Amino acid sequence: MRIPFVAGNWKMNKTVAEARELVSTMGAGLKAVKGVEKVICPPYVSLLAVANLLGGTDIGLGAQNMHWEEKGAFTGEVAPAMVKELCKYVILGHSERRQYFGETDETVNKRVLAAQKHAIIPIVCVGETLDENKSGQTAEVVRRQTLGALQGVDADFAPSLVIAYEPVWAIGTGLASSGDNAQHVHGQVIRPVLVELFGPETAEKIRILYGGSVTGANAAEFFSQPDVDGALVGGASLKDDFVAIAQAAAA
Ligand code: PEP
Repeated sequence: MRIPFVAGNWKMNKTVAEARELVSTMGAGLKAVKGVEKVICPPYVSLLAVANLLGGTDIGLGAQNMHWEEKGAFTGEVAPAMVKELCKYVILGHSERRQYFGETDETVNKRVLAAQKHAIIPIVCVGETLDENKSGQTAEVVRRQTLGALQGVDADFAPSLVIAYEPVWAIGTGLASSGDNAQHVHGQVIRPVLVELFGPETAEKIRILYGGSVTGANAAEFFSQPDVDGALVGGASLKDDFVAIAQAAAA
């Protein structure tokens, strides 16, 4: 049995004061949801403030990215040990990082291996663009990204991995994938790659989230699919709707 997992990616939204306010507003609702791993991923500058508010609760904290080097002359970057001090999770390979900041399968893999080294749970994002989808390349792209990101991951770390299938055309567009399509990609593309890499028993333990315009209204359609183990949520994680999504995951 895989415990459902719901993560909120706040992206570049909310000041520190606004982050505190949002956590205070939705915290009680989230705490009341049991049987679901719940994670909030605010911008770096708010991690400490949010960590202080979440202390002693069952709501986890994640960063939105992380560099793979230990430390040094990498202006503007954040090292694994810095993330580890505050966070249990880190989002890696988000399509916005790939699209706007030049991340590749290779650099995502370096980050995943750094997360493994520091025992930070990576939420590894994969997903095809609209053009790739239209030209029938979804399976090939998702397979390549998943294999690329996970090269060199140890079998004993693998069960803690979280993979997020996020079709780029569904992110922030209001045009969510169908539950059936998510199930197809999770069950026929991603899970088989996990079997190839880690064997069937370990592959069955790895959570695969769907991400892309998930709301409280459509969440149940995804969570009713056998290989959709939760959601990575952008826009709706900035509102009370995130609590409704967590409640749907619990149901
Ligand atoms: C995301 O950015 O990971 C995401 C899924 O965004 P949204 O829910 O807004 O589509």
